[in-house]
Amino acid sequence: MKTFQLTRPEDERQAVATAAKAKTAQQSADIRFIAGGTTLIDLMKLNVEQPQNLVDLNRLRLDKIEASPDGGLTIGATVRNSELAWHPLVRKNYPVLSEAILSGATVQIRNMATTAGNLLQRTRCMYFRDTAMPCNKREPGSGCAAITGVNRNLAILGTSEHCIATNPSDMNVALTALEATIHIRGTKGERTVPIGDFHLLPGKTPQRETVLEPGDLITHITLPPPASGTRSLYLKLRDRASYEFALASAAVVITHANGKITRARVALGGVGTKPWRSPEAETELTGQPAIDAVFRKAAEAALRDAKPQSQNGFKVELAKRCLVHALKLVTENA
Ligand SMILES: Cc1cc2nc3c(=O)[nH]c(=O)nc-3n(C[C@H](O)[C@H](O)[C@H](O)COP(=O)(O)OP(=O)(O)OC[C@H]3O[C@@H](n4cnc5c(N)ncnc54)[C@H](O)[C@@H]3O)c2cc1C
Ligand code: SF4
Repeated sequence: MKTFQLTRPEDERQAVATAAKAKTAQQSADIRFIAGGTTLIDLMKLNVEQPQNLVDLNRLRLDKIEASPDGGLTIGATVRNSELAWHPLVRKNYPVLSEAILSGATVQIRNMATTAGNLLQRTRCMYFRDTAMPCNKREPGSGCAAITGVNRNLAILGTSEHCIATNPSDMNVALTALEATIHIRGTKGERTVPIGDFHLLPGKTPQRETVLEPGDLITHITLPPPASGTRSLYLKLRDRASYEFALASAAVVITHANGKITRARVALGGVGTKPWRSPEAETELTGQPAIDAVFRKAAEAALRDAKPQSQNGFKVELAKRCLVHALKLVTENA
């Protein structure tokens, strides 16, 4: 295996050109970018990923967090999760993002993990990580061991008969509620993708998880400016208090004026095959008072299409309660 080290700013072009020789940017890519390595190295040790070439991004100048001219935020692809979570502008303007990142993994992992790496982390479905088991995501056409197997932690929204794996990221849920934009440099130049369009539903091709093509390098993520009077919050429910992925989580970004919710952005984690935005809940909340009955209606709407598997029916009510509680907390004393 060969590792390419990049040092100069213009090496971004070299990174793209090197990775563009890969057959795919999805599962089993033969050339991979590496950032913190906390997802990729794990999967290489398990033989789930076996790239022949690694392109090390750590020396590229993609590690800055800067206020954008429009009042939003620009976050470099290799900014470490810890740095992002504790940045004063994130704490002040986007607490939901700070809380989501700090609820994940451990201090040591967050010190290594990067923004783009987190965005692209892989599912924790145990069959995906076990090469002795059938898994359509790892090996297309081999079957899905989880549908008839252990699926307690897996998804209830956005599933297909080919895959029911959850997107495990906490950060992605907050970025979805914040309507982040992903900036990509590829072989044809630069382009942007709204986070809601970045991750794909599994459908018949669960091995294809994002819109990325060979050579596509995520350079940074931008957040729009926070609307005046907006509050945000991330609530994560899990089996134990630390070092654990979400069973259900909610990211809420709420603007409240004159006793009414004037704008609502809602995303759920731990329950969807991708970070799960809920326009249905947002519609139920907008223009309504911040009271329990409205929150419950929003939660019912968010989970209306849930399709539980044999072991994860409990997630439907858990996710509803998670959302209701997050909404109560974020609107308290508003
Ligand atoms: C024990 C453990 C517990 C964890 N718990 C949680 C948790 O509770 N919540 C949570 O959200 N996460 C959790 N994580 C996941 C962790 O957040 C991710 O592993 C981490 O964010 C990945 O970032 P990285 O920089 O290390 O990615 P890498 O492993 O370096 O890369 C991951 C993927 O992204 C690609 N990539 C990286 N940078 C770019 C780029 N700029 N452009 C294009 N592609 C790129 C790589 O090619 C690779 O495919 C946990 C991880 C571990 C090991
Ligand atoms: S749920 Fe998806 S990742 Fe898990 S075994 Fe089935 S196909 Fe593989």
